[in-house]
Amino acid sequence: MYDVAIIGGGPAGQSAAIFTSKAGLKTLLVDNEKGLTQRALLKNHYGLFEATGAELVAAGRKQAERFGTVFQQAQITDIAKTEDGFTIHTEAGVSFAAKQVILATGANAALAKTIGLKTKDGKEKYVKTVIEADAAGHTAVPGIWAAGVAAGVSVHTIVTSGDGAKTAINLISELKGERYTDHDKA
Ligand SMILES: Cc1cc2nc3c(=O)[nH]c(=O)nc-3n(C[C@H](O)[C@H](O)[C@H](O)COP(=O)(O)OP(=O)(O)OC[C@H]3O[C@@H](n4cnc5c(N)ncnc54)[C@H](O)[C@@H]3O)c2cc1C
Repeated sequence: MYDVAIIGGGPAGQSAAIFTSKAGLKTLLVDNEKGLTQRALLKNHYGLFEATGAELVAAGRKQAERFGTVFQQAQITDIAKTEDGFTIHTEAGVSFAAKQVILATGANAALAKTIGLKTKDGKEKYVKTVIEADAAGHTAVPGIWAAGVAAGVSVHTIVTSGDGAKTAINLISELKGERYTDHDKA
């Protein structure tokens, strides 16, 4: 069983995966590889003079894998509550078990609606529906979190990657029972 399953491999999901896997949580990241970030040219992401979205996502994946994140390419069609977590079902009929789930599914709210999460109208351009989540990233279902565009934040990679990190830090802090900080010294 995974400690955390993250659905969505854009900046929000990958950034969350870097934090959870680096914190020692067994992390699965599932993405259907239909992300829009692949089409972006980024000139406004702090610290990156210029990069394509594809380059950012490729680098994020390598960084998350460095800390142990397991990647799976799949379309997630359902998430069901179990006694000790959740079963995550793919379109291909495979399933994964995880104790916690982070939905970082971008502008696509279909999965959130299928599993009965509360949603609301999106305020950002191109984003029709977002998941109702509190400032920490909790949805109404304990153990299911939301991050990035899926949680209604501004549609910019610097914001969505930061929001993924924020949600992961809150999740890790709750599991550890104290505020979590991840600092390495040069
Ligand atoms: C053409 C274009 C240009 C852009 N230019 C800029 C720019 O210059 N600067 C900037 O800051 N931002 C730009 N953006 C916006 C930026 O790419 C997004 O705001 C940001 O990356 C969203 O991050 P996210 O992780 O929240 O969602 P996403 O990057 O959308 O990632 C969500 C992922 O989840 C996947 N997914 C959804 N549902 C499922 C499911 N059921 N099962 C499996 N996978 C699923 C999606 O396919 C996607 O891969 C641009 C976007 C586009 C399209």
